[in-house]
Amino acid sequence: MEELSKENVHPSRPSLGKTTHIKSDTQDYYRPTAGFHPKDEPVYCGVCQAKMNVEFSSSSGQGLAIGTGNKTSVRPQRTLYDDYRCPHYRDSWHKQVIMLRHEKKKSFSSTIRDILEKEIVQIIGSKEPTVEV
Ligand SMILES: [Zn+2]
Repeated sequence: MEELSKENVHPSRPSLGKTTHIKSDTQDYYRPTAGFHPKDEPVYCGVCQAKMNVEFSSSSGQGLAIGTGNKTSVRPQRTLYDDYRCPHYRDSWHKQVIMLRHEKKKSFSSTIRDILEKEIVQIIGSKEPTVEV
């Protein structure tokens, strides 16, 4: 197993009992550089506000490794990320909410936006999709 190189790790900022809410209402994941986000600071899904599950790459070595350095370097540089995911991200209702929100943003009709919002609220409340997605 490759040891995490120190240069790739941001110093963790103190959490001070804070929580993080994903700002985008269509985003159900969060991938900060390993060690950047305080481990005791929970992150909440932008789509449904559920507390996200996290896999810390720095502690387990199992987290996400994205990208490699240039081919001329002796040791390829890998950037490790902590991987936050909504526990519902695979659920049909969760996917439908994301699609409806994209549809809402595309619409130039306030009537259609209102209708879509009603359906979104209903789906999040029931955790049941209204169509198969
Ligand atoms: Zn969610």
